[in-house]
Amino acid sequence: MLQTPLRSIPLLAAASLLALCGVATAKAPRRPAPVPVVAVPPISAETLKEVTRTLSSDAYEGRAPGTPGEDKTVATIIDRFKAAGLKPGNKGRWTQDVPTVIVEAKNHVPLTVKAEGQVLSFAFGADYVAGSYRITPRTDLADAPLVFVGFGVNAPEQGWNDYAGVDMKGKIAVILVNDPDYEQADENGPFKGRRMTYYGRWRYKFEEAARQGAAGALIVHDTFPAAYGWQVVQSSWSGKQKYVQSATNGMDQTLANGWIQKSTAEAILKASGQDLAALTAAAKVKGFKPVPLNATASLGFDNGIERAMSHNVIGVQPGKARPNEYVLYTAHWDHLGRCKANAKGDDICNGAIDNATGVAALVALAQANRKAGPPARSQVFLAVTLEESGLLGSEFYASNPVYPLARTVGGVNMDALGMGSAARDIAVTGGDKSELTRYLQTATRAMGLTITGETHPERGYYYRSDHFSFAKRGVPMFDVGRGSDWVNGGRAAGEAASERYSNVDYHQPSDEFHEDWDWSGPLQDVTLFYRLGRSLAETSDWPNWHKTDEFRLIRDRSRAGVK
Ligand SMILES: [Zn+2]
Repeated sequence: MLQTPLRSIPLLAAASLLALCGVATAKAPRRPAPVPVVAVPPISAETLKEVTRTLSSDAYEGRAPGTPGEDKTVATIIDRFKAAGLKPGNKGRWTQDVPTVIVEAKNHVPLTVKAEGQVLSFAFGADYVAGSYRITPRTDLADAPLVFVGFGVNAPEQGWNDYAGVDMKGKIAVILVNDPDYEQADENGPFKGRRMTYYGRWRYKFEEAARQGAAGALIVHDTFPAAYGWQVVQSSWSGKQKYVQSATNGMDQTLANGWIQKSTAEAILKASGQDLAALTAAAKVKGFKPVPLNATASLGFDNGIERAMSHNVIGVQPGKARPNEYVLYTAHWDHLGRCKANAKGDDICNGAIDNATGVAALVALAQANRKAGPPARSQVFLAVTLEESGLLGSEFYASNPVYPLARTVGGVNMDALGMGSAARDIAVTGGDKSELTRYLQTATRAMGLTITGETHPERGYYYRSDHFSFAKRGVPMFDVGRGSDWVNGGRAAGEAASERYSNVDYHQPSDEFHEDWDWSGPLQDVTLFYRLGRSLAETSDWPNWHKTDEFRLIRDRSRAGVK
């Protein structure tokens, strides 16, 4: 009973009381199985070092997908998985093909808006950016009606729908960035206040507009709620964009997605007799109704299209008792390849921390789990490609799973294990979203560690690495790692190290292997990852998202009817 988190005790007591009085209760709340406490075999620091050193050496040229660096990397991972005793994870093969499309939107005409007899014109780059997820050589939207849809959120679990009552076919949605309660200082509120939920992410806005049948979607940029400036939007929306090849060729998406500057939005709304500030205030209140604007917009551009192929690498340890239930370990193998040369003329972004360490952890975990013998459930070791291009390898696997997601219990994603001292705390990205928290509490208790939150919940980091491709399809995933309260040097040392990494080495040629690195920290991380993955693989439990979490309904639907 001790291992049951406080949340469910009051519920249980109520249920048994009613049973006692012979009153038929709806459905007794699910009583989660206790979290198994697992024994941890030795984790090989030598393996962590060797794999990180090898994959981050200049010979791998920064592991860019579609280059000789990819071939070397994929062959090395297969070799290490084989040596660890895993089986090929894709129907006898070690790899999964990941077909990609590279689209470059160009020759944009100005965005033209007609309102109340006026014609407004906005320049590409300075006032707006746009592109298309549709694989087509030309994109044109002519005189499409504009509709202001607030934050563009459709959250049934919150009884919130910013599209209620409007037919978006042939229209363009004008959408605010972040979620309706982002200004709150705490994390309370329907959308977790200061913490950004998936509803706040730009990708969600475009997906929901497409689900609503909109012809186009334009997000209003505003630096504070976006958590980055217009120059970030401008640079990430110009040049070549990579997408995974989808069965629909993107035809289930809008014709065009993009961003407009806040000043552009203010001008458009003013010309339509509306006020952005007033509409924004209204949009923050439950029951907000979409506002058709007396305005239409036109835009157009060409799309240069190329195709390429990359690969995910998959190894598996089949389970003993329930082999058709799966637990995931994921890490991306790709990095930036050759990048802008630094002052020393070094132009290879070696990606030692990001993410040769994560792949090294995959191999060390494969060895340790093989040493411990097969658990009850099967364990899938998945090294994905194209994370740096937008989580594409994990997106492709999650939309073309080798092992059904409805039979995938959960998993641990490992991205950029920082070097240095072990810590007294574990940081959780995303906060307490699911019943996985029980597993984390059990593991950290066994390791004598405390659990701390993340320092910047408003930046939505949970939605920015590979676990998210699974979470958004309902699979509960861990994104955890050492906190900054270091054993050697305390919080000061921990924070200084992560500052240095983010400001100096992140996505730079200087993210290289050093023989004198202190591996006690990564070893602690991998020990935690072992405990989390192994306990999920030994239990018969199906941990779910908490009732109010944005992924709960998706999971319940995907598991409905699964025996
Ligand atoms: Zn990474």
